[in-house]
Amino acid sequence: MTIRAGVVGSPARHSLSPLIHGAWLRAAGIDGEYALYDLAPEGFGPFLDEARAKGLRGVNVTLPFKEQALAAAATATPDAVAAGAANLLIFEDGGLVANNTDGYGLLRALAEQAPGLDLDGAKVVVLGAGGAARGAVAALAAAGAEVVVVNRTQGRADALIAAVSAASPRPVKLSTASLAMAAPSAGLIINATSAGLNGADDGGFDLSAAPTTAVVMDMVYKPLVTPFLAQAAARGHRTVDGLAMLIGQARPSFEAFYGAAPPDDVDVRALCLAALGLAAPERKA
Ligand code: NAP
Repeated sequence: MTIRAGVVGSPARHSLSPLIHGAWLRAAGIDGEYALYDLAPEGFGPFLDEARAKGLRGVNVTLPFKEQALAAAATATPDAVAAGAANLLIFEDGGLVANNTDGYGLLRALAEQAPGLDLDGAKVVVLGAGGAARGAVAALAAAGAEVVVVNRTQGRADALIAAVSAASPRPVKLSTASLAMAAPSAGLIINATSAGLNGADDGGFDLSAAPTTAVVMDMVYKPLVTPFLAQAAARGHRTVDGLAMLIGQARPSFEAFYGAAPPDDVDVRALCLAALGLAAPERKA
């Protein structure tokens, strides 16, 4: 029987997830489908009822439904609780199970594009205090990093730290500061804001106080080389892009839906770059 899954959001139509999962399904020869569910903003509750009735195995969840997805679940993994949001829902007999694989995707992107970066005891600066930043801070803190949150709205940074600390099973080292204060001792700086999306506003983030040994990452992948990553590359930093994180978060989702690891013999990054109208740029390892 065909295993059915998909991605749900509002809007979801620009998602690269159907391309990624479709390519893996074909390469693995699995009888499965991965559909795109583009809903009205108020449509998430009714969608979940329909999806269960239609026998879907699960769904990836994107903006703006990630918090609702966690709230709708009967059980949640520690990663979803720590992130305060779910990007993966699995329909089990006992009810919906919520998970969050964004943190896994972030760590995988760092391992792939900044090999050798040791997060244990490292100082990491996270720019932003929205949903993506919260998942990142939780994953980085769990990996042993000391995380400094920098956000335009200070109250959101304080709230994020309180939430991640409360959800963490172990004591974590989290604080807030300005980028200029935190940058000099940073081993990793991550843009988890939406600044730079579609190449528009770069957020005005100035890396000049950062040592060039610091790795610089942007979660935004449209454009692939954001103004922030261009600034980092021009200063000689190693860079990590948001597409590696997107593909990284898809891997455990695929396994949860279809019961098999994604096959290695298909280059989904090249497919995504082609869909974004890009050729693969040379990377500095
Ligand atoms: P969100 O909840 O709306 O949070 C947005 C954050 O960006 C807030 O901290 C906001 O600051 C800040 N911000 C927005 N514009 C800014 C600007 N011009 N200057 C400075 N700060 C600015 O969004 P989110 O869900 O966290 O997503 C953030 C980004 O991560 C999005 O671009 C999303 O596409 C990306 N993302 C990528 C992946 C991936 O797999 N690559 C996964 C998840 C998310 P205030 O609090 O001051 O408003």
